[in-house]
Amino acid sequence: MAREQSIVELSDGIHAVRGGVNTAIIEGPGKTAVLVDSGQDKEYGKRIARALADLGLTPTALLCTHSHADHYGGNAYLLTRFPELEVLAPPLEANIIRSPELEPIYLFHGAAPLPELQGKWLKAPASPVHREVEAGRVTLGGVDLELIDTSGHAHRQLGVLVNDVFIAADAVFGAETLQRYPLPFGQDIARQLATHDVVAATRARIMLPGHGAPTRDLEGSAADNRRAVTAAADAVEAAVVAVATGGGSGVGRSTEDVLAHCGVTLGLDMDDLARYHLNYCAVSAHLGNLRSQGRVTTHLEGGRLTWRSAP
Ligand SMILES: [Zn+2]
Repeated sequence: MAREQSIVELSDGIHAVRGGVNTAIIEGPGKTAVLVDSGQDKEYGKRIARALADLGLTPTALLCTHSHADHYGGNAYLLTRFPELEVLAPPLEANIIRSPELEPIYLFHGAAPLPELQGKWLKAPASPVHREVEAGRVTLGGVDLELIDTSGHAHRQLGVLVNDVFIAADAVFGAETLQRYPLPFGQDIARQLATHDVVAATRARIMLPGHGAPTRDLEGSAADNRRAVTAAADAVEAAVVAVATGGGSGVGRSTEDVLAHCGVTLGLDMDDLARYHLNYCAVSAHLGNLRSQGRVTTHLEGGRLTWRSAP
């Protein structure tokens, strides 16, 4: 049965519910469970509920690793099925989960977002967050967990280390996802790169990424992701340099120019407004990081924000 194939036992009492987005079920005392993320939508919520029924478990806690809609879209359904469920999330991420319109709003520079930015990939149904949690050791539903700072992809993302399993969420992407998205989504690039080092150093036998297959090669996965983010950083910087040295017009390159240039050099998928704005956000994160490193400078020229290579 297809529904059984989507449940993978990662370790004793720790299960992955596999799909386009991965979620996890951790068994607790007395046939209870702690959930990590709820997937993209109601269908994912139903899939998790079926997996719980197959395993004979009742969930007591649901930890959301971060506030991207595809990771908490199943919350609302799970709360209708299990009203006693305690929902937990990191600070800041919690506010977006409570007010999901914030993701489309920030992707559209704070303005009332275009309808195309309000699909289920970018806006999930609102969910309460009953408790905010930080990195460190925590006991949820009778299960001892170590929450690990994996910020960068999202501003305050947490990963979960439980026994010999690391639930990484979007700290790293699987190989196929990296191939498909050569500009890996990141909101804080310095932290995203630091997180790759954290992943490589995490002592776990197996890791479940948010997208892609579980892997035992944490160091290899961290290296693949570091390579991809570094290549994207190089492409962004090259896009700025291309104008700074090539033109003669004396005008720097706008964020949109940089994005368009990277679209060609990295081969980005940019054929819908949602993907365009996600790429715009990631390019902005790279430009901000390059500026903080002193590699590019900002200018306001002719009513445009432009970027130039630092002298
Ligand atoms: Zn994410």
